[in-house]
Order: sequence, then C-alpha cells, then structure tokens
Amino acid sequence: MADAGHVIFIGAGPGAADLITLRGARLLGRADVVLYDALTDPALREFAPHAEWIHVGKRGFCDSTGQTAINALLVRHALAGRCVVRLKGGDPSVFGRLEEELEALADAGIECEVVPGVTAAIAAAAATKRPLTRRGSGRSVSLTTAMTRERTLHAARSADTEVFYMAGKQLAALARRLRQAGWHEDTPVCVVSRAGWPDELHSDHTIASLGRASVLHSGRPTVVTVGAGAAPLRTAASVAESRSCVGAGIPS
Ligand code: SAH
Repeated sequence: MADAGHVIFIGAGPGAADLITLRGARLLGRADVVLYDALTDPALREFAPHAEWIHVGKRGFCDSTGQTAINALLVRHALAGRCVVRLKGGDPSVFGRLEEELEALADAGIECEVVPGVTAAIAAAAATKRPLTRRGSGRSVSLTTAMTRERTLHAARSADTEVFYMAGKQLAALARRLRQAGWHEDTPVCVVSRAGWPDELHSDHTIASLGRASVLHSGRPTVVTVGAGAAPLRTAASVAESRSCVGAGIPS
C-alpha cells in the first residue's frame, strides 16, 4: 500500500482568485486532487491545472449526509497516497465545518495543515472602507451566524461590531431580532454582497431600514455589519455637511 498522503485546507478568500494568500496558491499547486466549495473562483484552477478537481459545494453536499460524504472522500484520497487540497471559501475556520473534517482525518491518522484565508467580514470592511474596529468606540468584533442549527434566526448584542453571516435571505427578520437584542433603531448597518468579486454591492442602512436591503442583495452571498464598524467615517466633508444641516435647522 502507498504511504498515506496528507490534506491541506486552504482558505480561498471571499471572491476573486487573487484574494487567496501566496502560501495558499503555492500549496494549491502541489495538489493531486482538490475538493472545492461552491463559493470559490473557478480561475483558481490555473494554480493546479493537472489536479483532479471535485466539486463538493452546495447541491447535495450541504446537509449532514453530504458532510459525511466529504469526510469520506478526504480520507479515501489521502489514504491512496495523494496530496489532497480542501479548498474552502473565505477562511476555513469561519463557518466552514472545518472541525468535522479535521476530526475525521485525525481519526484516520492522516496529517493535515490549515492555511488561512480572508473571511467575508474582512472583505466587506475593505470593500466599504469601514474598519471593523474603531478607536474609542469599537473595541470588539463578533462573527455570528444568524442561522442556528435548527434553522431559526438568532441575533445578539455581544460586541461593539457584530458581523452576521448567512442572514441575506431574512434581513427584515434580522432587524426584528436585533431590536429584541437591544440594538437601537438608529444603529448603523452596512450590507455587503459578493464582497471581493468585481460585482460586489454594498448599501447603508439603520436597523429601522434594514429590510429594504433585501431587493438589492437578493440571491447573493451577503454579510451584515452592525454597530461601530458599520458607521461611515467622519471625513472633513461629512462633518461640514452635518454642520450645514444643523445650521439650516435640519436634524442631522
Ligand atoms: N468560510 C466563509 C464563510 C462560509 S459561510 C468565510 O470565511 O467567509 C457562507 C456565508 O458567508 C454566506 O452565507 C455569506 O453570509 C458569507 N459570504 C461568503 N462569501 C461572501 C462574499 N463574497 N460576500 C459577502 N458574504 C459572503
């Protein structure tokens, strides 16, 4: 029997192929087989043109049966002595079910390595030029999935900046949950879809108007940033504008 191969988990980044790390691209080039997710850029194939590419994303693979099948594929290809790359959208450690795959490989005695990637929250901050932390007002950031395992919507107030993943389809419901969790109606909210892709979109809201973002971002991978990190920057122009509004008797 051939020596056991190994598995390299690589974060592909949130969008366009050039958002992968240099290390990720280099190690991708060593792959014999690549198991990749739906949200990864097909242009990444250029880094491993001779590898066997197997799509394990969304359709058929997103439920728990699908996860078991992915685990089994990883183990089978590694035991056949191949260098297996598991390519995941964004960062593998963020809502990527990495723990289940690492556990399956550890149980089979297979060596692994994890290469980080740019997660969607960070790509959204870059796209909108809204730093997630702010001196004085934003000391903590939370990455939260809005969907629980039971497929119910959940929102909390656990940090100054809260970034919600997997809430794009239920923005009006998310706004209700945010209010219940104690966020004020006027809290700034920034919605970004397909961050890191050439067709990324973003829109600014408050919790009161968040429901209106559904039309723009419908059907696209979306993150919702709430609180300190969603606020527009205080540029000289914006300060002057708010002064002139006050001067004109318009509430800012
Ligand atoms: N591991 C990934 C997250 C996977 S969960 C990461 O680190 O980014 C899938 C969710 O991520 C989507 O429902 C969406 O909320 C978010 N997402 C992924 N790619 C995105 C993108 N390019 N722009 C905005 N949100 C994205």
